Amino acid sequence: MPSNFFQGAYWLGVILASVIRVVYTRGYREMKIAEYHGTRLDLLLSAIPALGMFVLPLIYVLTPWLDFADYHLPMWAGWIGVALFGGALWLLWRSHADLARNWSPRLEIIEGHSLVTQGVFRYIRHPMYAAHVLWGVAQVFLLQNWIAGFSMLVCLLPQLVNRVRGEEQMMLEHFGEEYRSYMDRTGRLIPRLWR
Ligand code: SAH
Repeated sequence: MPSNFFQGAYWLGVILASVIRVVYTRGYREMKIAEYHGTRLDLLLSAIPALGMFVLPLIYVLTPWLDFADYHLPMWAGWIGVALFGGALWLLWRSHADLARNWSPRLEIIEGHSLVTQGVFRYIRHPMYAAHVLWGVAQVFLLQNWIAGFSMLVCLLPQLVNRVRGEEQMMLEHFGEEYRSYMDRTGRLIPRLWR
């Protein structure tokens, strides 16, 4: 199977992820923001992942500029990438469906915001961010290039670390003890298998 097949699988995944996002975030613009907790750093860092998920992969498939950094994996590794991207899409879908109208692209509390602790949120506090990490790992197997393959993980990591810290702080300030006890029961990105 040519490596183009796995590149095609990557772009199919990108399209499906975009559809999920568009479908589940249609009502966001009508929401009234009750509290804004964003920082300039968070805004700046949230612009960077697009470079890793769209821009560098596009440069990779449309030009020969990054070809010098290609690596070649066996076919089964490409299929691991397909499976991981499938898992990422499932998690992205479920986290949007469970979060419903409480979703926001920024650090903010909307009017009537309720704490979601069901569905995939029952196991981890950041399933949507976990879905993006899975996407990043899938990319390493699907786009077999040291720059385009690792670009998502590299671009995502600074935002993830900063966002998770700020978001948990915001949720603790707003939901208090309810969020603290939710934190005690759940893992951040991986389910808590102990306790
Ligand atoms: N971190 C979560 C949500 C990402 S969307 C995830 O990875 O799935 C970001 C917004 O979702 C935050 O600004 C916050 O307003 C909201 N949010 C995060 N966790 C929530 C929860 N458990 N219940 C309700 N809203 C939540």
